[in-house]
Amino acid sequence: TKTDPDRHTSGNFKLSFEFFPPKNADMDVQLWETVEELARWNPDFVSVTYGAGGTTKAPTLVAVDRMISVAGLSTASHLTCVDASKQEVHDVVEELRGIGVKHFVALRGDPATGPGTAYKPHPDGYENAAALVRGLREIDDFQISVSAYPEKHPESESTDVDIDMLKRKADNGATRALTQFFFDNTMFERYMERVTKAGITIPIVPGIMPIQNLTQLKRFAGRCGTSIPAFLDERFAGLDDNPVERAKVAADVAAEQILDLQRHGISEFHLYTMNRAPLVNAVLENVGYRPLRQSAA
Ligand code: FAD
Repeated sequence: TKTDPDRHTSGNFKLSFEFFPPKNADMDVQLWETVEELARWNPDFVSVTYGAGGTTKAPTLVAVDRMISVAGLSTASHLTCVDASKQEVHDVVEELRGIGVKHFVALRGDPATGPGTAYKPHPDGYENAAALVRGLREIDDFQISVSAYPEKHPESESTDVDIDMLKRKADNGATRALTQFFFDNTMFERYMERVTKAGITIPIVPGIMPIQNLTQLKRFAGRCGTSIPAFLDERFAGLDDNPVERAKVAADVAAEQILDLQRHGISEFHLYTMNRAPLVNAVLENVGYRPLRQSAA
């Protein structure tokens, strides 16, 4: 197949898609079907998470390699510095650089002992994400994305402390921040005002999480510090046993969120795909984007 470069997907808007490395053969099949399907949206880049949930670096490397060499997508590898010496981090960076990675999502990460355990830097490692950014910047002219937390990182004492960390990451060479997912755009607007006031000028790209299942999401959101506004309970009320209607509401909710952010001048969006295409497709169709057509070669 070949794509028609003249058909644009999202006009002036840029999209990125986040995936996680598969944990078994079935998930592997699902990931690659999803990647193929979502590639039609001509993303600016895709990203693959690293080390989260007890996985090691190997599945991330395999997935990133395939995204670049087979799917032909501009691919960012997430990278954490938790529990690793600088040398170990550099070895991974070299491996990823060797397969063509030019973009990292640089993160501190969480201790393997799980959330709630206090973070302790490795004795020979990077002390935090800002130090990791500086280390990457010294290696090469990478694109470096970092995290941002509109509702504050759960461990952080205040939003000011958080914004201070974001500023340090930007000053050390980060080129973009991707936010934790959120559902309350007003709160994001307020966060952006404080970010601007702090003199941070890198793009802050909202992370959009289409809601596959509100009950499950609530558990996860609690750990991430994301609040669930009351309107979501209202929109999903009575739909527990109605997956078709639930998917429609989910697509509407995320599309409305993106459209509202667009009206406020946001032009880049990072979508948490959960390695599934149908809901992401529905959201982007509702926003009014058009996929690239695939035509037989
Ligand atoms: P930082 O930017 O270093 O810190 C975030 C905030 O937490 C700081 O502003 C600071 O106020 C506060 N903080 C940091 N350290 C401390 C401390 N010791 N005490 C008190 N407050 C502190 N995790 C993975 O394992 N793999 C991934 O691939 C991954 N991808 C992610 C992608 C995105 C877009 C986001 C938003 C998060 C991702 N995470 C991932 C989760 C991330 O690793 C955790 O949230 C982790 O706890 C913080 O890492 P960070 O780089 O965001 O931290």
